[in-house]
Amino acid sequence: MAKVVAGNWKMHHGPVATERFFSRFRPEVRDDSVRLVFFPPDLSLSTAIDSARTRADFGVQNIHWQAAGALTGEISAEMAKEAGAALVLIGHSERRHVFGETDAEVDRKVGAAVRAGLVPVVCVGEQLEERRAGRLDEVLRRQVGAFAGSLAGVAEFMVAYEPVWAIGTGETATPGDASEAHGIVRDALGALGRAPVLYGGSVKPGNAAALMSARDVDGVLVGGASLDPDVFARIAEAGAGAG
Ligand code: PEP
Repeated sequence: MAKVVAGNWKMHHGPVATERFFSRFRPEVRDDSVRLVFFPPDLSLSTAIDSARTRADFGVQNIHWQAAGALTGEISAEMAKEAGAALVLIGHSERRHVFGETDAEVDRKVGAAVRAGLVPVVCVGEQLEERRAGRLDEVLRRQVGAFAGSLAGVAEFMVAYEPVWAIGTGETATPGDASEAHGIVRDALGALGRAPVLYGGSVKPGNAAALMSARDVDGVLVGGASLDPDVFARIAEAGAGAG
C-alpha cells in the first residue's frame, strides 16, 4: 500500500500563500508512489485544488455534524464535499483540547462525514500525563471505541495516531512507540478492516523515513513541516522510499 503523506496546514496559508506553495511544490514532486493529501484552511481549499496541478487529494480540517443550520462560523460535510473536499480531519488534538471537542462530538462528526461521502481521517492520541500514568492503551481504546460504530461497513477511512505531547513541540515518538500505539489502534478497530493508520507529531524530513518504515505505520500527518514546500517534498520523498 502506498504511504500516505498528509499535510495539515491548520490556520496557515491563505489563498495567495497557497498558490505560492504549489508553484514551488509542484516541480519538487518527482515520485508519485505516495498518496499526497492536503488539509488547507477552508478559504484556501478551492485555490489549492485549482493550483496544485499535482496528483493529490484535498480535505477540510473540521466539520459540524449538522447538514445546515443557524451555526455561525461552522461548515457542514455536505458543503465541504460540494467545494471539492474528499476527506475531513476529525478530532484533531487542537479541536479536542483547545476547543473542548468530546468523544461523542467526534462520533457525530464521523457519522456526518460518512453520510456526505467524505473520507474521515479521525485523530486519536494520549496526553503526556496519561502516557506517564500507563494509560496509553485505555485512552486509545476509549477514543477509537467512541467512533468505531459509525464506521461499520464504511469502505474508506483513516485513523491518525497523534500523541498530544508530540504535536508542535519538537518531541517525536520513536518508531517503536508509534508501532506500539498503532497496534493498539488496529486492535481496537477490530473487524472494521485494515484502514491506514498515520503517525503525527513533529514529523520532519529527518525522522519521516524511520517512522514510515516502522511496523503498522501507513503514513504521516504533518503539521508545521507541511507548510514549507521544500521540506514537505522531502517528507514525501521519504514516504516513497519507505513504501
Ligand atoms: C498536526 O497538526 O497534526 C501535527 C502533527 O503537527 P506537527 O507536525 O506540527 O507536530
